[in-house]
Amino acid sequence: MSDDVAGKVALVTGSTSGIGLAIACRLARAGFQVAAHGLESAADAQEALDRIGAEGGPAPVYFHADLSRSEESHDLTKAVIDRFGRIDILVNNAGIQKVAAIDNFAQEDWDRIIAVSLDSAFQTIRTALPGMKKRGWGRIVNIASAHGLRASPFKSAYVATKHAVVGLTKTVALEVAEAGITCNAICPGYVWTPLVAAQVADQARVHGMSEEDVVRKVMLAPQPTRKFVQPEEVAELAHYLTQELARSITGAALSIDGGWTAK
Ligand code: NAD
Repeated sequence: MSDDVAGKVALVTGSTSGIGLAIACRLARAGFQVAAHGLESAADAQEALDRIGAEGGPAPVYFHADLSRSEESHDLTKAVIDRFGRIDILVNNAGIQKVAAIDNFAQEDWDRIIAVSLDSAFQTIRTALPGMKKRGWGRIVNIASAHGLRASPFKSAYVATKHAVVGLTKTVALEVAEAGITCNAICPGYVWTPLVAAQVADQARVHGMSEEDVVRKVMLAPQPTRKFVQPEEVAELAHYLTQELARSITGAALSIDGGWTAK
């Protein structure tokens, strides 16, 4: 079965870095029109945009929005639809992390984590869905986490948010099951990206360990492979989910975690 990608538009939130950038590059290589997005200014996002553009396919277009603000999640989705007339593939990838004990967890960090990953997915999905329904085709991929299926200490907001993203994914999948639209969550273990690099120092502080021990004893300890997942591995799975042959995969929380959740 050959996939018809011509004219199809993919919005990938948080695609200036890490996993989102790898997904945007993979979808561009497949020939989709990529709508890239990030918190950065257009100038700061240029390097990422160049990498996506170098994959071939239609020239990617960059959209800036701060997804910690509910209205900007809606406005971003609408701006992409206004520009291209459609969104066929929606990848909710943007996410942030904060490591702190719950009795020391700042309210603003709690609110921001929930807004960027959960509220934004709610807003983008409900804005993109009517067009997908009208065309009878759509793919929604939410980047959750192994922390959407398992907990770790000192990550209350992140773990709660990612569990909720898995719940949202299942609910949307059921609501659109007969409309030619799938909705899935990808649940990666530790992937070496700026988000993970940035939390090594925080983890060292709360665990009272050296940064080297954090990588070995905290981050890679739950992953039986003892290796970081690479962003390109997650991108390949996301791309697979966009294909016709993946049409019966929906409502799933797909682990890509080196065996973490097998335990
Ligand atoms: P990253 O820090 O490399 O990239 C994060 C992206 O999100 C950037 O493009 C950034 O611009 C965007 N972003 C951050 N705050 C934003 C805001 N307020 N508004 C709009 N955009 C914002 O992160 P990553 O490691 O590639 O993570 C991507 C996703 O994968 C996240 O949802 C994360 O929770 C999830 N994830 C990551 C890992 C990992 O180990 N890296 C594991 C499991 C799940």
